[in-house]
Amino acid sequence: VSRELYPIDTRVKIGPHAVGGETFTVIAGPCAVESQQQLDDIADYLCTHPVAGIRGGAYKPRSSPYSFQGLGEEGLKILKATSERTGLPTISEVVDANDAPLMAQYVDCLQIGARNMQNFRLLEAVGKLDKPVLLKRGMSATIEELLLAAEYIVNAGNPNVILCERGIRTFETATRNTLDLNAVAYLKQKTHLPVLVDPSHGTGVRELVIPLARAAAAVGADGIIVETHTNPAEALSDGHQNLDPQQFDDLMSSLKPFVEAAGRRL
Ligand code: PEP
Ligand code: MN
Repeated sequence: VSRELYPIDTRVKIGPHAVGGETFTVIAGPCAVESQQQLDDIADYLCTHPVAGIRGGAYKPRSSPYSFQGLGEEGLKILKATSERTGLPTISEVVDANDAPLMAQYVDCLQIGARNMQNFRLLEAVGKLDKPVLLKRGMSATIEELLLAAEYIVNAGNPNVILCERGIRTFETATRNTLDLNAVAYLKQKTHLPVLVDPSHGTGVRELVIPLARAAAAVGADGIIVETHTNPAEALSDGHQNLDPQQFDDLMSSLKPFVEAAGRRL
């Protein structure tokens, strides 16, 4: 995935949208798929903005076994139904190599979560599928390890990998993670793969999502993936970092000058 070997930016298609081109990619949606109604409400709202796809976990890798674990295959069916109705491509996390082929039948892009960045069997499993992969950086992974994880997928036969900086663990506890924007600038120089930023998990604080999304655009990221919910107070996971529709409107309008200054468009 090195730029030295292959200097041309890779464009990875999620449905009709090319990640890594002139358009700054915005992927949004809830942390978890909760019901058909919940996803439809969010999708209808997102369709009023130029978003490339809707995210939502059906299999949730929760820190606590007592937290909502996701709807499983039912969640995948909901994603597919929403996508068929609205035309929005879908992105969802795969947590088990055995689920990967099934998931590929339901969603347009497979997400590898931070906790699984070095699950090498899982990386090989998505490497054998004909679907783009959004690879999130492990919370304690070096940039080199992220790039090597991407190589596992590419070597298995799938060149359509999108990297995602989602914050790392540091000594700092004021925010959930420390969003490593150094990594974004560094990755843009070292690899031809597109790089997205997740300011939602990167900060864990709703009020910090907009400033860090703007910073991501300014530093040259190819886009963002953001958690949104029509009713964050009722969200079954990560509600504290979800933007409500008003805040998402604010995000999109305040992002524009930063995206344009970086030579892209929304
Ligand atoms: C997510 O995107 O919902 C998620 C669990 O993110 P991460 O793997 O980055 O923690
Ligand atoms: Mn989440």
